[in-house]
Amino acid sequence: MERKATESAESATVATFVSRRTVLAGAAGIAGGVALGVVTALPATAAQQYGWRWCNQCQCLFYGDNYTSGWCVVGGGHNWGGSGNYTPHYDYYPGQSKWRWCYRCQSMWYGGDGNNRGRCPASDRHSSDGSGDYSIESGNYYDDHEQPGWRWCNKCYCLCYSGLGRGYCPSRGHHDFGGSGRYYLPYA
Ligand SMILES: [Zn+2]
Ligand SMILES: [Zn+2]
Ligand SMILES: [Zn+2]
Repeated sequence: MERKATESAESATVATFVSRRTVLAGAAGIAGGVALGVVTALPATAAQQYGWRWCNQCQCLFYGDNYTSGWCVVGGGHNWGGSGNYTPHYDYYPGQSKWRWCYRCQSMWYGGDGNNRGRCPASDRHSSDGSGDYSIESGNYYDDHEQPGWRWCNKCYCLCYSGLGRGYCPSRGHHDFGGSGRYYLPYA
């Protein structure tokens, strides 16, 4: 499919069908961690969590099935209009571990850099409180239902979609993807 060939502008919205049939109610970590809201409908061997969304304002990945859409640096909550339903793995060895959910802004951010916690649009630094250990895969080879073009921002530490520019960074200006791996995300 063309989806594989390029990281085109359509890529961010290619998964616009929103399959709610397998989505269970639950929070990403409000009440004790990632285990809530988990489904295992996909054939993958590892656990995955549905309900992650791309914000069409700041370009960050955030958890969209909570009572809040978090805080977006653009103002108000994140906006997932046009987003697919992303299903990142957790406790999944092949990926890069220590990606975290921030309960303040709802974003996915990288928590494996010592005490550095990037920049949270809601409150100074991101928090990993209540988060599971997410694993994000990277590289040049990915399957159907996996979308390339995701990058780590070295300023805010969020996982951002890079196919539509550099968005808006909680650490001022635009995201900076220098030093990032070539991440890809599974989607439902
Ligand atoms: Zn946003
Ligand atoms: Zn945050
Ligand atoms: Zn950023």
